[in-house]
Amino acid sequence: MTLNAEIIAIGDEITSGQLLDTNSQWLSLRLEELGIRPLYHSTVGDELQPCADVFRQAIERADVVVASGGLGPTADDLTRDALALATGRPLELDAGSLEYIRGFFARYKRPMPPQNERQAMFPSGSRVILNPRGTAPGIDLEVSREGRPPCRVFVLPGVPAEMFELWNASVAPAIRALPGPRRVIRRRRIHCFGAGESQIESMLPDLIRRGRQPTVGITASKATITLRIVAEGDSEAECDAAIEPVAATIRQCLGTLVFGEEDEELQHAVLRQLRHRGQTLASVEWATAGTVADWLGHVDNAAGVYRGGLVVNDETACRSALGISADVAGCDSDAEGFVRTMAIACRARFAADYGLAIGPFPRSGLAADTPRKVQAALATADGVQMSKLSIGLHPALLHTYCAKQVLNFVRLAVL
Ligand code: ATP
Ligand code: MG
Repeated sequence: MTLNAEIIAIGDEITSGQLLDTNSQWLSLRLEELGIRPLYHSTVGDELQPCADVFRQAIERADVVVASGGLGPTADDLTRDALALATGRPLELDAGSLEYIRGFFARYKRPMPPQNERQAMFPSGSRVILNPRGTAPGIDLEVSREGRPPCRVFVLPGVPAEMFELWNASVAPAIRALPGPRRVIRRRRIHCFGAGESQIESMLPDLIRRGRQPTVGITASKATITLRIVAEGDSEAECDAAIEPVAATIRQCLGTLVFGEEDEELQHAVLRQLRHRGQTLASVEWATAGTVADWLGHVDNAAGVYRGGLVVNDETACRSALGISADVAGCDSDAEGFVRTMAIACRARFAADYGLAIGPFPRSGLAADTPRKVQAALATADGVQMSKLSIGLHPALLHTYCAKQVLNFVRLAVL
């Protein structure tokens, strides 16, 4: 059995729904990386007895407990008192911490309010985790249990930046040093675009089956299909070795449907390919209202590859921005021809290797049940490729879905 953990989030802000508890999510990911299984998440308000009950229960059922929040100096910050109550260990003043907190105020040339003294109080037997970014030190306490190995409790400040720092400097090394069995878990995400979930599943040999190791899961998010490979083993190397052949099979079976891994999106894939070839791209978009430019422009190192984009919202503006003459038939009479001209003009205006144009949504209206088509065109030195995108998702996702289809069209054209 792997060592397991309980994560506790403390604060009325969280239980009342005003603040989303991202600390627990982060802690779960970090614990898993260390081979500890996060088995429980608990959340409790700023209330002494309930908070102590949650600590007591966690110490009883988990090998490692990591709590965040409520270490501040104010009257509503009760975490240290709750832990003292739960473990029956009185709070004691730690002289070193008091000096440290005094020094913190002295550095900022402010008098120390008397209530900050509370932050130097720790349940007896605690190890103090100093906090270089704030006044609240963290708590590290081993709690013995009848007939079982002890439970190790860590309490960290709620402010995420402080929590991260204390975790990295102090908690992670302490957890690594704990005796007891681990199972390392490693994950890999492979992203695809251009086919549905079930179609992608049918293209893979029996990979997505319960009980198979490594496990492969499939999820869809806004038309991007992601395959998640999860391996469990005694070491990272063992997990990676198990994942690699599965990833290779997926890439081989899905071919050009696969565009990237981990945090990569379609825009990253497009710009990676262009950079590799030393080519540039510019865009003019109508239906997507700047989404494509937004995504491409936010890619790190986009400069020099993505030259820029125009957003237009009517034909007159489009003609004048791109210098399209009155001889060219309008969008209403020849949508395909007009978008083709937009792409060529965009390529010329930006002096880019590729000029991308996205036409308007059809005038028939967006609410209608009729299939909605948007014209896209990609101009190069050798000619223009056209694509007719069908937009059939929920109206709230129109821009996103349309922009993804356009980027996928460019990705495949540049391949
Ligand atoms: P402080 O000394 O700043 O009072 P603290 O340990 O008492 O530290 P809290 O008062 O519980 O921490 O929280 C301080 C702030 O940290 C919150 O207002 C919130 O912005 C953030 N925070 C606290 N808990 C969480 C959480 N679980 N997830 C995300 N953010 C959190
Ligand atoms: Mg506080």
